[in-house]
Order: sequence, then C-alpha cells, then structure tokens
Amino acid sequence: MPRIADEVRSGETITSLDPATGEIVGAVPLTPPEDVERAAAEAQEAGSGWALVPLEQRLRVIARAVEDLLDREEEIAQLITRESGKPITESTVVEIGAAALQLSWVARNAARYLGPERIPDPQLVAKAKRHWLVYKPMGVIGVIGPWNYPFMLPAAQISFALAAGNAVLFKPSEHTPLVGDEIARVFARAGLPEGVLRVAHGYGETGAAVCTAQSVAKIMFTGSVPTGRRVLVEAARAGKGAVLELGGKDAAIVCADADLDRAASGVLWAGATNAGQTCAAVERIYVDRRVYDAFVRRLVDLARGIEPGDPKDPATPVGPMNNQPQHEIVLRHLEDAVAKGATVECGGPVQVPGLAGRFVAPAVLTGVDHSMSVMTEETFGPLLPVMAFASEQEAVRLANGTEYGLGASIWSRDPRRARLLADRMETGMVWINDHAYSHGLAQLPWGGVKSSGHGVTHSKFGFYDVVDKQLVGEDAGRLPGAWWYPYTEVKRRGFLAVVESMSRSELGRRVGTAWRRRGTIGRYVRSLFR
Ligand code: NAD
Repeated sequence: MPRIADEVRSGETITSLDPATGEIVGAVPLTPPEDVERAAAEAQEAGSGWALVPLEQRLRVIARAVEDLLDREEEIAQLITRESGKPITESTVVEIGAAALQLSWVARNAARYLGPERIPDPQLVAKAKRHWLVYKPMGVIGVIGPWNYPFMLPAAQISFALAAGNAVLFKPSEHTPLVGDEIARVFARAGLPEGVLRVAHGYGETGAAVCTAQSVAKIMFTGSVPTGRRVLVEAARAGKGAVLELGGKDAAIVCADADLDRAASGVLWAGATNAGQTCAAVERIYVDRRVYDAFVRRLVDLARGIEPGDPKDPATPVGPMNNQPQHEIVLRHLEDAVAKGATVECGGPVQVPGLAGRFVAPAVLTGVDHSMSVMTEETFGPLLPVMAFASEQEAVRLANGTEYGLGASIWSRDPRRARLLADRMETGMVWINDHAYSHGLAQLPWGGVKSSGHGVTHSKFGFYDVVDKQLVGEDAGRLPGAWWYPYTEVKRRGFLAVVESMSRSELGRRVGTAWRRRGTIGRYVRSLFR
C-alpha cells in the first residue's frame, strides 16, 4: 500500500498536502483553542454592523459572491482538486456548480422567508390585535465543516447565515484548510465587510472551542456521528443549539420492474463519486432476486470501466482517497466482508502509475449479509455491496436495519410502488430513480434522521435554523384587554360563551351551557366598553 502523509501539523501551522501526489499545496496558520473566544468576539462585533445592513443589500453581496465564484471557477476548482483529491470534473460540477446554484437561490429567495410575517388571528378575542413574526439574526453562527465537500457544503451554510444577518466563525476541516480560506475570499471580494466571516483553522480542539465560545450563538456542524455527538454535548453545556449533518449508510432498493441500465448507472455514480466519500453515497444495494443476476452483471460491467486516475485530468472518474484513516476503514470493511464469505466481483485497492496516492477502484461485492461491517457501518469509500431480497417487506426491513437515516433511493418504473416504498424508508431524504442530487438545490431541505443528524440545512428551514423568532403583538389600544380586571360573573360567563361559540362543533354549540344562555355574550361585550 502506498504511504503518503496527510496534512502536517508543525507548531503554529497546518501544511496541506495533495492526496494524489503528496506534494505541498500550501500552509495556513493554526488558531489555537485559547484564541477562538477572541475571534468569536471580534466576529460578533463585526456582525452587529452587518445585522443592520438592509436585507436586500446583504443579498446583493451573496449574489456578487456567485459572480466571483463563476469568474474564478477554474482556479478554485483546481485548488479543490489539489487539496481534496476529487476529480476536477467533480470540483467544477459538484463543488463550484452546486455552490453557485445554492448561493444564487439564497440571494434570490431569502427575502421571501426572512421578512416580517403577518400571522392571521382567527379568534374573536384577538380581533383588536395584530401579530407578526420577526426573524432576527442570532449573532455568530459557528460553522464546522468536513473535508469531503469542502467548498459547496460550508459555503451554502455560510450564505444562509449571512443572509439572515449573522456573522460566521468558520472552522474548515484540517484536511482542506486552503479551500476554507477560499470561501472567505469569495465573500470578501463580493463586498462582505471585514470580520463578518472569520476562519479559524485547526483540529478537533479548535472545533470544540468554537462549540463552547460564549460569543457563538449556534453551531452548524457537518461531520461524523461520533464527533457530532461530542459537538451536541459541548454545545448543550454552553447552553446553545446545534444542527448536525452526520454520516450515512444509504441504501438503494432496485425493484424487479426497474430500468436496470439506469439503476446500475445511477447507483454506480452515487456509490463511487468522490471515491465514495459522500455522506449520502449509495453504500448498500438491495435487488429483487428475480433481477439480481442481470443487475449485478450490468453493475460489474460498468464499474470495470471506472478506473481511478489523476484527478487533474477531466476524464478521470475517481481520484484518491483523501486521507489515511479513511483509507484504512475502507480496507477494513473490504477485508471483513471477504473473510466472512463475500466475493469481490471487481475493483479494490489499486496503484496509479506515477501517483503516490491511496486509490480504490469501485468494488462490487456479492455474497454479502448484515453480519459484515460493509452492510451496517459507514464505509465512506467506493464499495458497492449487492444483496438480493425476496419481498419488498424484506427490502424495507434490510434498508431500515442500520442506525443511520440520511438518504435512500427506490428504483422502479412504477411510481405508485416507488412512492409506497419511499414512504416506508426511515430516512430524512428519499429519491426515486436517482440518488443524492438534491444537495445542490438549496430550495430542498437536506438532513438525516436516527443517528444521521438533527435538524436540516437548506430550504426555508435553513433560514429558520439561524434566526431567533420574535413575536410582535400590537394592540391599537381602543378596547381594554378582554381578560383584564375587573373580574365579574358577566366576564367569567361571557368569555366562556365566546370561547364556546368559536371552539365547539355546531352540535356542541347547541348543547353547550354558556351558549344556551342567551344574551351572555352581549352583556359581556357591553361590559368591556364600560
Ligand atoms: P469529522 O467528524 O472527523 O470532522 C468534521 C469536523 O469536525 C472537522 O472540521 C474536525 O476538525 C471537527 N472536529 C473534530 N473534533 C471536534 C470536536 N470535538 N468538536 C468540534 N469539532 C470537531 O468528519 P470528517 O471526517 O471531516 O467528515 C466525514 C464525515 O462527515 C462522514 O461521516 C460523512 O458522512 C459526514 N458528512 C455528512 C454530511 C451530511 O450532510 N450529513 C455531509 C458531508 C459529510
């Protein structure tokens, strides 16, 4: 197995290395945990001015960030590929392309969700009042990011937070710090006032300090389940909330009536893209036993054509694994499956001539079952285990048979069957005849259930996650409060009569006690004007 270093920590810096070659890409200064509180306080200070900038102006900054991103897409895509190892086509399409779509949706639509919202008042007793929901910035949002989608994922979360008038303290992954800096540069060139988006580089301890910093109001965390749980504890201890986007073990269910060519192409892409290092990668495939052999044949044929190579080449479909610990998990899952009787139909670890990186060709595994870690734990690599099912009930049981609940896909030509199966998936997202594409469309919520997360990002909920919701109640002041002093028998009965008239069913109203006392409401209303 080729051995190259991941990023290197030395003293005050992190030196970032290219996972394909081991060459130095650049270095960033570390923010030690003890400096995080100060960085957060400075972001809070800068953010107090940003919160006062009118929403339309804030959104213009985000729109300009999209222009900057697209103007400089080649340079930024090259950096993403050099630092993360993903193929340049994915850096362009999935990182830059998705980020541009996400940010432009935010710039165009945030005003629909963040402006004051009038709340209708159907109750007679509230007729003299008017109510609004006002969405207010929370202060500083701590965004902690992973390395697998180092640009588009945090950039989208940051854009939601900034649109809502927050400042952001962003801790990129230690594996992709330079891409983290690039996000900040895009917003800076777009005119974001200095200090509103602060980057704190570092390892877990710096991330933990972001969670506990007094000046950070809320955490948006994306990463693994174990770290996410630590983040939740730290945030709770510091009295704040956290949105967690965590790991997954997505299943694809291929029905007997599926378009097998489409299903094989789709699950191969969703399992192998970014070398399988995708939270919503297809990591398990359950196929109706009537079409199992035909499906496996197609999948293996296609997978054999997906050869790892130099990620800087636009034709390369799979680059190196990003880091050593991740590579080791993939090899462990592969070895465990083989030791328990699985067959590797194609793929596995390979060397790419001239490149020192850790490469794994998409591997199709058959003869698998749920005693193998490859079927129950997150692999985060291009392994595609395929298992037959005898009934849809069994498929549902197997698909739901893990602690994870991020995404799932159903492959069928029958929309009714597909929707019924989709409804039974214990996941935050389910796609029919495709998989995982929806992250790039910021109008759609993204998030998992069970161990895969708490809360969602994107969509209207992405805004609601990063604002305080303030109720404003307004009374024109013409009538006294219907429940104020003095307390009298007329008020006691009259109020109840009004409530009954509004709240009971027609029949209930007819038999209701207070309603039957004619004149009660009239006496009550007259008493208010006295
Ligand atoms: P990770 O949990 O190792 O690290 C994520 C981030 O947390 C890094 O920036 C890291 O430095 C930081 N961190 C580490 N310890 C911390 C602590 N104690 N407190 C605060 N921050 C801490 O995850 P990773 O390896 O970078 O990313 C891969 C994982 O992320 C996979 O499990 C993947 O499924 C998941 N992921 C989920 C989504 C999603 O949307 N659900 C998206 C991408 C990745």
